[in-house]
Amino acid sequence: MLLTVFPDARSVLLLKPERAAGAGYRPVFTIPSVDDLRAAGVEIPEHLWGFADRGGEAVSGTFVNASLLDHVLATSGQRENVRRGGDGHGAGLVLVGRREAADLMDVDDYWHMNRAFHLADWDRRTRFCGACAAPMERSDGEIAKVCPSCGAVSYPQIAPAVIMAVVRNGHLLMAHNRRHPGQMYSVLAGFVEAGETLEHAVSREVHEEAGILIRDIRYFSSQPWPFPNSLMVAFTAEYAGGELRGDDDEIDDLGWFSPADLPAQIPSSYSVARRLIEWFVSEYGTGDDLQRVLEAD
Ligand SMILES: [Zn+2]
Repeated sequence: MLLTVFPDARSVLLLKPERAAGAGYRPVFTIPSVDDLRAAGVEIPEHLWGFADRGGEAVSGTFVNASLLDHVLATSGQRENVRRGGDGHGAGLVLVGRREAADLMDVDDYWHMNRAFHLADWDRRTRFCGACAAPMERSDGEIAKVCPSCGAVSYPQIAPAVIMAVVRNGHLLMAHNRRHPGQMYSVLAGFVEAGETLEHAVSREVHEEAGILIRDIRYFSSQPWPFPNSLMVAFTAEYAGGELRGDDDEIDDLGWFSPADLPAQIPSSYSVARRLIEWFVSEYGTGDDLQRVLEAD
């Protein structure tokens, strides 16, 4: 069994195998086995949420209190086996940020880890019934909890969000969000509100954040986005009218970018935001433009 430990909502404890070092060095992080964690002194809680096979191995996720983890590691004589950050050399357990882990892990491992996070986070937030406050119990045969007092059932919550590539005369609408550090520009995105269709959410977000109207909204792709519990649904759309006007609360710069002149910093390659940008360049740019965006960090 493989176990993903989240000392907090931002980082994950992973194993860095010895084989990662060597020619063409690139750090490789995997989900550790229960035995790996026990050997490093990490106490394994009884209560885990697991899910079905990952090439024959079940994957579970759990939160271990960060200070408890530190204490256990300090008293186990294994502390030197655990490091924070992904830049050290050699084998051992390391704490890395969940977003940072995307660039360090096998892509299948990464999404299994995130699914484990989604379930563990839901587990942590639904210890008591939301209707009558009795302690919840696990349901047999499905990933759910049931209230033994009033019968209410809780399934893992999934919050849909929309993300969209809006194109005008071969240029892509991209923005810099105030919450994002550095100069990373991306396409617009936002949560779906109660009572909305996905298409309405796309139109509303573009109008709220950029002040323009759009048409030809088309489904593109989707991606689980467990930060902490979203499903990102991606669309493409065409500009239909209005002047660009960024929402001051969220956006501090936005504009239309050509395939040959994209911002220097764009979202990581594991994200559906990046796939929308690559789609735009493949549709409206040259082969050289596409090569450049595929090779970008
Ligand atoms: Zn209840």
